[in-house]
Amino acid sequence: MNQSNQEMFRQLGISEEVYKMGERVCESLKERFEKIDRTAEYNQLKIVKAMQDNKVGEACLLGTTGYGYNDLGRDTLEAVYSSVFHTEDALVRPQITCGTHALALALMSNLRPGDELLSPVGKPYDTLEEVIGIRPSKGSLAEYGVSYRQVDLLPDGGFDYENIEKAINEKTHLVTIQRSKGYQTRPTLSVERIGELIAFIKKVKPDVLCMVDNCYGEFVETIEPSDVGADMVVGSLIKNPGGGLAPIGGYIAGRKECVENAAYRLTSPGLGKEVGASLGILTQFYQGLFLSPTVTAAALKGAIFAANLYEKFGYSVLPDSTEERFDIIQAITFGKPEGIIAFCQGIQAAAPVDSYVTPEPWDMPGYDAKVIMAAGAFVSGSSIELSADGPIKPPYSVYFQGGLTWPHAKLGILKTVQFMADRGLIDQKSIH
Ligand SMILES: *Cc1c(COP(=O)(O)O)cnc(C)c1O
Repeated sequence: MNQSNQEMFRQLGISEEVYKMGERVCESLKERFEKIDRTAEYNQLKIVKAMQDNKVGEACLLGTTGYGYNDLGRDTLEAVYSSVFHTEDALVRPQITCGTHALALALMSNLRPGDELLSPVGKPYDTLEEVIGIRPSKGSLAEYGVSYRQVDLLPDGGFDYENIEKAINEKTHLVTIQRSKGYQTRPTLSVERIGELIAFIKKVKPDVLCMVDNCYGEFVETIEPSDVGADMVVGSLIKNPGGGLAPIGGYIAGRKECVENAAYRLTSPGLGKEVGASLGILTQFYQGLFLSPTVTAAALKGAIFAANLYEKFGYSVLPDSTEERFDIIQAITFGKPEGIIAFCQGIQAAAPVDSYVTPEPWDMPGYDAKVIMAAGAFVSGSSIELSADGPIKPPYSVYFQGGLTWPHAKLGILKTVQFMADRGLIDQKSIH
């Protein structure tokens, strides 16, 4: 064991017992971490090749102002995304404000009044309920005459093919598939399983569009949903593909017609992709994408490390300590509010920014229980940075994700263990 590393952890408040337990768990994870590094290597090369093939040059890093006509850097970046995701086209813009916006844009621009939207994987991410109109909302798809159908996953997490086939009708125009479990307890879908689902849907109705909500899934595997038949993949740049550097933005990569529709909706009919100044943001978009594979790998290692530690303490973890990963989210269930609070305060205390503030549960608009959030991030709200949150209600689960570097994710998790131990929430005897 490296004495001086231990000393640095000690200076950051980690006791000898907690440190040593962390080292032993890391030792046991070597093989899994190597596999994650191999995936990162593949994706790193894929991105470098895309940048070279599309002749990214110094001039691409300069932005435009005003209308943004002939924005070489913006147009080249979109070509790079198309190469990475193996799609015909892509829209990658700072004017797409977040993941929800990117998803809403993809849906609203590719559905018309009278069309029906189908989710064959159960309830979509919370914020999409208002986009679709599952919860009545101003400007929802429902207000524009787009209907919605949902088929839940089977109790074992499988696809309910029988009812999916029944749900597809002459109005069904677009199918939305969420890759990550988000903040639900269903399993995250592997790209391979998404491919099987898309193949089934296209067999039932070949001209239906399949869109994948790719949030939290980018570069976790060596293939993306667009490699297995998705017509559009959609995500946020303050998650995986922004690599922690993008301060805003979203992307839609997919079939030319789908992306064009989205561009005409984002800007204006007649203008489409031709306008939209990139301002001074392109270096962060390029460099963030470049770093994304290793940043995603760091976040994955942190999630697996946390699962292995907390399973040893007797808490239930999802995914569990040995499961293969298809997104970067880790859930830990404490069964009592003190657990969530100590965990979030530990994450905050490890942050590079705002480490000295103490997060407390508060009444957040739109939630039916108090929520606690830890986010000492360079980019506000960024969840590719080390972050955690949880609603203060049974079963008292915390959702944790991110970490721009593995050493920082490791510190954050050890800090949560230390806080839990100091408050008697972890049996001292289990720290060994
Ligand atoms: C984060 C996320 C979204 C929404 O993204 P925001 O940037 O928070 O609006 C949608 N779907 C999934 C699965 C997500 O993880």
